Amino acid sequence: MALYDLTLNEIQEYLKLEPYRARQVVEFMYKHLGDLSKASALPKNVLNQIAGDPYFQTSLKLLKLSQCDNGQTHKFLFELNDHKLIESVLMQYHNRSSVCISTQSGCKMNCSFCATGQMGFKRNLTKGEIVEQVITLMRFCLRNNYRPVTNLVFMGMGEPLDNYENTVSASWAIKNDLNLGAKHITISTVGIVPAIESMADDNLPFRLAVSLHGADNETRSRIVPINKKYPIETLVVALKKYLMASGSRRISLEWTLIEGTNDSVDQAIKLSKIAKDLKAHVNLIYLNPTKATLNRPTDKNTALAFKSMLDNHGINCTLRRTRGQSIDAACGQLASIN
Ligand code: SF4
Repeated sequence: MALYDLTLNEIQEYLKLEPYRARQVVEFMYKHLGDLSKASALPKNVLNQIAGDPYFQTSLKLLKLSQCDNGQTHKFLFELNDHKLIESVLMQYHNRSSVCISTQSGCKMNCSFCATGQMGFKRNLTKGEIVEQVITLMRFCLRNNYRPVTNLVFMGMGEPLDNYENTVSASWAIKNDLNLGAKHITISTVGIVPAIESMADDNLPFRLAVSLHGADNETRSRIVPINKKYPIETLVVALKKYLMASGSRRISLEWTLIEGTNDSVDQAIKLSKIAKDLKAHVNLIYLNPTKATLNRPTDKNTALAFKSMLDNHGINCTLRRTRGQSIDAACGQLASIN
């Protein structure tokens, strides 16, 4: 446990503060991003309490910061208090600034193309460890005159819905205390059906991105093994329930283009049907090279033809530019190698 694991009431109780003082501490933590030099509203004794209490120390130690794409992509390697490693990525664009945040150290899901999956599962991150990644990257933007963070995706290490409670409570803190709109917070999943149903039942306002990668069970199970447990038909039913729970939500389907595996005409047609059924946006991305896979990315012409096929079926679709590849910060590459 650490500072950002605590709620307002817990802070008030633990530090034995008046409610208004506890609110000032929360303001210091979130509005001022935990920067002690900006905590002038707090009296010295409270500041000393915060600074001197091991419970209030940071839960992340920055081990390494790498950058590429002309300084537009940064990868942060953090050590947690129990020496487990995680990574977070900051990407600057001309009109937005996006952070990619981890929810677990390692991952159980073992997707065929993913370096994180190959490192095995270490543990779930606490709510505080998730929130603190965002705080640290926001502070980095502020200190270096980068565009402030506008978007957040839980697409770093781990399967967010396999750590449902902490991912959701972190998302609420990021929305309510860091003022990032729910539409700008995306939870990404390989399709943990009971958790998607919980998202519907809990009426969560956040966006959902589903890593589909295959449009029939045989193809998808080869890329995303959890499909054997939650096949496409079951997944689609859960996603419809999630969509129905609030008419305003939009789902995106993520599709890593892998040469000879999921870039055929047949896959494009089947994907179009699923996307149409869910009124989903499709994000296509080239496979990023990792030690986890011998597969190759789809070549440009085949990728463009695949996209045209989706376009012709009336599917909203984007072929994404890969960011962070040279520092292993791109999708599927995060593996905490110091
Ligand atoms: S792609 Fe995501 S869910 Fe799959 S192994 Fe990698 S981190 Fe886990």
